[in-house]
Amino acid sequence: MIVSDTIAAISTAMGQAGIGIIKISGPMAIKGSLLFFRDKNKTFLNPTTIVTHKMIHGWIVDQDSVIIDEVLWVCMTRPCSYTGEDVAEIHTHGSQVVLQAILEIILTVPDIRLAEPGEFTRRAVLNGRMDLTRAEAIQDIISAQTQKALQLSSSHLSGQFHTLITRLKDCIFKCLTQIEASIDFPDEMIDETPIAFSLVPYIAQLDQLIKSYDQTSIYREGFRVVIIGRPNVGKSSLLNCLLTKDRAIVSQQPGTTRDIIDAQLSIENIPITLYDTAGIHQTSDTIEQQGIALAKELIARSNLILFIIEADRCLSSDDFLVHQEIKAQKWLLCANKIDRVKKIQIDNIPIQWPEPICISARHDIGIKNLKKAIVNHIMQQNADLPDPQFLINLRQKKCLEKAKDALMQAQTAYTDNMPIDCVVIDIHTALDALGEITGAVYYEHVLDEIFSSFCIGK
Ligand code: GDP
Repeated sequence: MIVSDTIAAISTAMGQAGIGIIKISGPMAIKGSLLFFRDKNKTFLNPTTIVTHKMIHGWIVDQDSVIIDEVLWVCMTRPCSYTGEDVAEIHTHGSQVVLQAILEIILTVPDIRLAEPGEFTRRAVLNGRMDLTRAEAIQDIISAQTQKALQLSSSHLSGQFHTLITRLKDCIFKCLTQIEASIDFPDEMIDETPIAFSLVPYIAQLDQLIKSYDQTSIYREGFRVVIIGRPNVGKSSLLNCLLTKDRAIVSQQPGTTRDIIDAQLSIENIPITLYDTAGIHQTSDTIEQQGIALAKELIARSNLILFIIEADRCLSSDDFLVHQEIKAQKWLLCANKIDRVKKIQIDNIPIQWPEPICISARHDIGIKNLKKAIVNHIMQQNADLPDPQFLINLRQKKCLEKAKDALMQAQTAYTDNMPIDCVVIDIHTALDALGEITGAVYYEHVLDEIFSSFCIGK
């Protein structure tokens, strides 16, 4: 990739910090930034004499040679830099005022402009410094919320996912050459049926990777746990208790939660989004009805429901109404307010319902058990799948699906004795789809979409 313009941006996060870094990449990076750099003897450095990857202590000055800050300046000459271009970095004190002032004078140099979001990484991909799976992993690492997400993203960054996809591509490519050979040299092909069987393991492998997307969705989006029950059973109290802070209003007055309240928490390193909802019951209050409608919508999108009842009273018609709404979903039964009674006082729990978990949201009783039950539930859901190795994103999943569908089509075409050209086209489609994962095959609009979610300076 040949670019004529040079880009610059603050690469460190907003706010006060020990240090801040301004990154500049492109043909003018070194020359342009040195215009405002003076070494410790206050002299201007000649760009042709500087040594790559060596930090130099000095000062950044403005156009009138007035000192802005004491800094470390370093350059990485192409191709041995993050972007594969000449890169200069100015390490300043971490004040936004200083960083902004330095960035502004750097941007006065002709041919240096402000970088767009993710543009440094985009250049790194286009210059072959990294493939797309690694670029996407960088963003995942920046936004990782749990150790597990970090660990899974790191396996992409270290290139394991790239290697797996490349190997898969190589194997499928071998099948393709066999097939093409059977077209070019039909008499020399001894085994005429390599494809029908040889694609099977790759289809299975793709299938496994696609499944691991759902398996790891909790590490990307969090696990959706919804607290449901009739009014006043202690739903808001439970939300507050699980969060160990007052997030929702708790009141003796029924119908106080009318909107959905959501909050993030992590149990055993699993990110969870917890929702408190309006109490489900028969009501003529139109605002409450709207709240109940929202709760019902959320039930359908939940991963797990905590169905709250009261430990000191038998189930009412409203409790059964709640059960009607949630029974198609995964749910745990929680008998709240256990502090009021020595043992649970409900004698009309249907036999098919699960054993209730006794808790007191007000007095923090049984909450550890409840958390354990939530984690067990999550583990059970994933029990039949092997431990995930990769944190595949939606884009990569779609490419995997496209590749798998194309291979299945190729296999069917072959076994149905369709013209061999059709088989070849399908295998090429699969290879292109896999190439899209690593960036070996890319489309500008796909890159635009990927890098628009990056921060400026990355
Ligand atoms: P919601 O309408 O289901 O959200 O219920 P709230 O959380 O607002 O609680 C309704 C009432 O029950 C409040 O007065 C709470 O203090 C009370 N409450 C909630 N949990 C407990 C509990 O574990 N024990 C007792 N004794 N009271 C509770």
